[in-house]
Amino acid sequence: MKLLSLMEYTEQDEILIGELQKELFEACGKIAKKESDMELVRKAFFFAKEAHKGLRRKSGEPYIVHPISVALIVVNEIELGTKSVVSALLHDVVEDTDYTVSDIEHLFGPKIASMVDGLTKMAGVFSADTTEESETSKQAENFKKMLLTLSDDVRVIIIKIADRLHNMRTLGSMTVHKQMKITSETVYLFAPLAHRLGLFAIKSELEDLSLKYRFPDDYKMIRSKIKDTEANRNKYIEKFNSPIREILKANDIDFEVSGRVKSIYSIWRKIQRKNIDFEEIYDLFAIRIVFKPSPMIPEKSQCWHIYSLVTDIYKPKPDRIKDWVNIPKANGYEALHCTVMGPDGEWVEVQIRSQRMEEIAEKGFAAHWKYKEQSSNTDGEIDKWLKRVREALSSSVDNAVEFLDNFKLSLYSSEIVIFTPKGDQITLPQGSTALDFAYDIHSKIGNTAVGAKINHKINSIFTPISSGDQIEIITSNNVKPKPEWLDHVVTSKAKNSIKNFIKKDNQNNIERGIIIFEEKMKSFGIQPSARVFRKVLPAYKSSSKSEFYSKLGAGIINLNGVEKILRQNAASKMIKYWSLQLSNPLRLLKGSTETKKKTEAEEVEAITGDESEFSIAECCSPIPGDQVIGFRDENGHVTVHKKSCKEAVKLASQHGENIVKAQWSGFKAVSFLAHVEVRGIDRIGIMLDMAKLISEEMNFNIRELKVQSHDGIFEGIISLYVKSIDDLKTIMARLGKLRGVERVRRIETYRE
Ligand code: MN
Repeated sequence: MKLLSLMEYTEQDEILIGELQKELFEACGKIAKKESDMELVRKAFFFAKEAHKGLRRKSGEPYIVHPISVALIVVNEIELGTKSVVSALLHDVVEDTDYTVSDIEHLFGPKIASMVDGLTKMAGVFSADTTEESETSKQAENFKKMLLTLSDDVRVIIIKIADRLHNMRTLGSMTVHKQMKITSETVYLFAPLAHRLGLFAIKSELEDLSLKYRFPDDYKMIRSKIKDTEANRNKYIEKFNSPIREILKANDIDFEVSGRVKSIYSIWRKIQRKNIDFEEIYDLFAIRIVFKPSPMIPEKSQCWHIYSLVTDIYKPKPDRIKDWVNIPKANGYEALHCTVMGPDGEWVEVQIRSQRMEEIAEKGFAAHWKYKEQSSNTDGEIDKWLKRVREALSSSVDNAVEFLDNFKLSLYSSEIVIFTPKGDQITLPQGSTALDFAYDIHSKIGNTAVGAKINHKINSIFTPISSGDQIEIITSNNVKPKPEWLDHVVTSKAKNSIKNFIKKDNQNNIERGIIIFEEKMKSFGIQPSARVFRKVLPAYKSSSKSEFYSKLGAGIINLNGVEKILRQNAASKMIKYWSLQLSNPLRLLKGSTETKKKTEAEEVEAITGDESEFSIAECCSPIPGDQVIGFRDENGHVTVHKKSCKEAVKLASQHGENIVKAQWSGFKAVSFLAHVEVRGIDRIGIMLDMAKLISEEMNFNIRELKVQSHDGIFEGIISLYVKSIDDLKTIMARLGKLRGVERVRRIETYRE
């Protein structure tokens, strides 16, 4: 975002730019291989400075500060070479000024021109720097476009990550709506990508910054708690480390040992995921031993030597050794991890790595290439991954959202190594099944797989496989892929092959399904309208009309209960009481089509009088008082999620244009379902006491109360109706005071 101004650079601007210039030239001087490299950097610098003259960022800074900062991240924090620095300096020139890619080619050569071109193609995608939303193209399409550049030059994506990092660092001057959109994209795609490329430090910073803007209170709370507990922790770490220091020194090992605290974001995730307090996190920090390898001994042996010295002092936890030295993580990470029993009977994780491994862990990609050049090794893990991504990209999936979902899977998963009957190694993501393996060999083998010999024993093709397994696939021409197969595979290769097969098979089913459904509707005298599908699709667990038709046509579902479904009111009665403020007022005026749709929907409402345009997301069931956000679908229907909901983050990043700001207003006589988990010491009558307190004393309706007890502990889940978050808080506080109750928590998704 910038404002056009006719101003030249002011004196103050020149001072600021001059400082950055000095820093950049110095950093590049250290990595430039020849003088012509430096010349190119200087040329790009002054060219960009001139091209962006008169433009300012929303923060008021001259625009050129942004490309220089991105170039500095590229050289200092990622350690790419001068070509990448030059491309970073020029990354917004074509997008924002009158210069074209061929101007760049003329001035800087074809390689840099093609990188700038790649960056420009992505520029419209992520509108952090521009004011207009791209109306025509959907976010997922854009992501796909961006990922396609992975097949040309990975550096383009890495520079894009650096660009995003700088935008995140300067996010404070953006509007709240923009912050939500940008942080969602960051959490959804950029941080995982950075992780996958081994850019660990950058990934952590991206996540922490996202948290800072999305949940400022949580962020501040965790940050201050880390600070408050620092002194005690350091004392403990010192106590833990000092015998380690002694023994390593006695063995002539050149090393450094330190204690590392988890990132704010990963602490937050843990609190969310496990529903625990900060104080309950036991692995808040880890001990890291980084050694300088002795030249004659393999690093691997030295890691194990240190491991054996450490475990002479502290007892290791069995099953908690992670050997990423023998088989590095998919993102190239190497280290030996173990968990040991520390001084006051606390489990402590110890990470053992060489200096080379440390550099790869921190700097990722660039370090990976640096060492690869040295060792003339065969393909590393990142190369293998890139190869798979390229394969996935070339196997063209039309649906961009689907593509992205599959791609996402390849980002975070850790990997297992298995063997073919001939002893060839194959790497697959953790959680893969024999069927994934079959598809990895060839789609024909996958499509005809009936069973698998896993370590010479016959098993189902859906059997999950683990590292070290040897697998042989048994095929038969009498089988064909079924939709359920999709639930039993994790790799995009398998998913795509199954989907492609089914798609062909499906077309017939869809046509049959349409006929069946229309006949049934005709017999009721109903038109299959959007409103009908809003009820029918969820009832038949279908995410689209075509899925519904195809299931129907294939005989997977039938219409026996459809009449009842149509008569049912949607579970969204109470949402009438919402006030929804649209985030983008322009959208209201956008076109006649949308307005028309709305009127249609209103007509239908007038007839039944019980359904509104809005519904509450089942995945997170927000209640009044929660921070919420809405998403509008193509029918104008809005679903409201909690702001912290994972699904919401995904939606916001893929369809940022559909975000609707939502706020609670009057919600007087309406009740919402909430779930509370209670835990404590079991005693006679505890269940009755809880029920009495809630329904008799406080007068709230309980829908269900379930209690299990074992070994003197009880755990219960209470589903009850409340009017607001305040009600819920009061109830939870009162429950917490009951004798024996130790912990009371709200849970979001409870399925009976
Ligand atoms: Mn930029």
